[in-house]
Amino acid sequence: MNFDVILVRYGELTTKGKNRNDFTRVLVNNIKNKLQGYEKQYRLKKEFDRLFIELLDPTVSEAVINIVKNVFGSSSLSLAKRVDRDLTTIANCAITLVQYYQPDTFKLEVRRSDKTFPLTSTEIKQQLAPKILQQTDVKVDVHHPTLQIDVEIRREFTYVFINKIKTIGGLPVGISGRGLVMLSGGIDSPVAAFLTMKRGMNVEYLHFATPPHTSEESLEKVKTLVQKLHYYTGQNQQKLHVVNFSMLQHELMHIPDASYRITIMRRMFYRIANILATKWNCQAIITGESLGQVASQTIESINVINNVSTLPVLRPVLCFDKNEIIAIAKEIDTYQTSILPFEDCCSLFVPKNPVTKPRIKQTEFQEQNLMWQEIIDVIINKNIKTYVIDRDEIYEES
Ligand code: ATP
Ligand code: MG
Repeated sequence: MNFDVILVRYGELTTKGKNRNDFTRVLVNNIKNKLQGYEKQYRLKKEFDRLFIELLDPTVSEAVINIVKNVFGSSSLSLAKRVDRDLTTIANCAITLVQYYQPDTFKLEVRRSDKTFPLTSTEIKQQLAPKILQQTDVKVDVHHPTLQIDVEIRREFTYVFINKIKTIGGLPVGISGRGLVMLSGGIDSPVAAFLTMKRGMNVEYLHFATPPHTSEESLEKVKTLVQKLHYYTGQNQQKLHVVNFSMLQHELMHIPDASYRITIMRRMFYRIANILATKWNCQAIITGESLGQVASQTIESINVINNVSTLPVLRPVLCFDKNEIIAIAKEIDTYQTSILPFEDCCSLFVPKNPVTKPRIKQTEFQEQNLMWQEIIDVIINKNIKTYVIDRDEIYEES
């Protein structure tokens, strides 16, 4: 069948009132970015409630759909045939569809977006159905049709289609500001990054490494995760910042009560993340913390750790079970990378009995003789490498 337009329905954008223009502009930009390489094969047209991707080369329809489906900001799409608004033309288009797909039964759905069209949708249906029935052997079944034909009448043209494909949903990346994701090599933080981007926030990534305890492979793993996540953004570039945390890790061995090590290490992560996020104009910090998952994620721990953060900390998977997080990780294709068995900086550092209910006063007491402020200054100035993720490429920023 010679479909020639992809009709894209906006997601929640329709509820965003006067900001709608900004939203659709970002969505269009993100889609265009993702469709690089196809410029000569499509033309994009934005309308109030729909986006139309006219296919100048219909052979790329499947490839284009697969790309657009995974850009945040739309709710569904349909591959459609664009025809004039007169009823005989519309009926002929429907007849061609019936002849092509040869269904036993069909149902007609009509939507009249242009309310100035002289007939109501019921009247349009009443006129179209007999024409289709006369020309083909198909029967009507309004409950369980083999084929549903949708007709959408708009101001300039009519669109006829048979399928609604659900898209990834969410809001276009870029409309909800910018955040800094603390990305370990685990399962949870990539999912947290994905969910944050899904709400329209663009992100940069911050990873703490402790070479030589953590290997080159574990860094490669993090880079792979970032590349997989980058696929969903529609942005030209994202950045991964790798902090060499070894010096501070070493200092943390002087904490008198070892059970506080992880709590204090996390406070150091947050302190560094706050400084860097502010420097890089990020408005929030994002983590993969999940309530009760481990000792450092009890509400008491979260409280003591959160206490050093001035920026809001978003925890998109806070209330998800591990299985729910894993299901998303599989869906977004980060799971297989996350379970690769390379050492993370925490796993090398975990005391036998980490405290599950730390107290602020006690934590501050445990921290008081550490040289952490000086070391953080050195780290911020000297121990960060930044990588740029640009489509299929990842390279160190010069
Ligand atoms: P994940 O939570 O990503 O599965 P994990 O379970 O090994 O990894 P946790 O120990 O649960 O990590 O840490 C909680 C959160 O702290 C992580 O989700 C992540 O946001 C942050 N974090 C932990 N380790 C690192 C690290 N090495 N670099 C950056 N952020 C980290
Ligand atoms: Mg975790």
